[in-house]
Amino acid sequence: MTKSVDDLARGDQGPNDQDPVHLEEQAFGDNPLEVRDTDHYTQEYVGGFVDKWDDLIDWKARYESEGTFFIDQLRARGVKTVLDAATGTGFHSVRLLEEGFETVSADGSPQMLAKAFSNGLEYGGHILRVVNADWRWLNRDVHGEYDAIICLGNSFTHLFSERDRRKTLAEFYAMLKHDGVLIIDQRNYDSILDTGFSSKHTYYYAGEDVSAEPDHIDDGLARFKYTFPDKSEFFLNMYPLRKDYMRRLMREVGFQRIDTYGDFQETYGDTEPDFFIHVAEKT
Ligand code: SAM
Repeated sequence: MTKSVDDLARGDQGPNDQDPVHLEEQAFGDNPLEVRDTDHYTQEYVGGFVDKWDDLIDWKARYESEGTFFIDQLRARGVKTVLDAATGTGFHSVRLLEEGFETVSADGSPQMLAKAFSNGLEYGGHILRVVNADWRWLNRDVHGEYDAIICLGNSFTHLFSERDRRKTLAEFYAMLKHDGVLIIDQRNYDSILDTGFSSKHTYYYAGEDVSAEPDHIDDGLARFKYTFPDKSEFFLNMYPLRKDYMRRLMREVGFQRIDTYGDFQETYGDTEPDFFIHVAEKT
């Protein structure tokens, strides 16, 4: 049975209050640091992690921290149709539907899409149009052309080879109308790589309920550990994308103008943002 935030607040911490709970479903094998494979994401977003994540990440708090940034970017360009390429549990898809955008919700993880669909019903009675599709073969599984594609929540960094990154960007480019816009966000890996592992920063979601911290960092792997209030731990293996490399890839695939924001701000000189957001236009 899934626990609610209320259960956790009452101090019901699950099977064991003291020891970390390693839920079996995430499979990283004997040497997790060798897992550097684009296909592995489907084994990382598994039932336990998906449910827990959504029980604890407060959608309202997320709404407040993002404000209207993405909605403003889309409206400023007259966008009507949006493909949410990394739907996850549906936060942005639901937000877009609420704001009146015609939205298709794609993801390569069926578990995530199932959760997104039920969240759509729960939050506002929306029927999400979900499509199970891997970005590398997006055009095969998703039809039509879109005014905008969004790929948010640090999702793009699940791609481990440059070939997969180029292929994905090319698929996104092809599915956009001639004047379409692509919005991708990513963690600020430059700062993590440059300041080194010793100064690792812990990120908190929804207050202090869930923490995310780098567990291992090298040029080819950023392994993050997520710790929940019941002490259960989950991991995600991602590729530490550098900001300027990402901008170059988008330019090389054909995007003409790329604006990069730091934590939703246009200028980010003085403070180190946690996230970068790239807004890439086709024309
Ligand atoms: N955008 C959501 C959010 O911000 O809450 C979800 C972000 S979650 C970190 C990343 C999502 O990207 C997961 O749902 C995962 O299944 C999806 N994903 C990762 N690699 C993918 C790929 N190659 N093709 C399709 N989906 C992928």
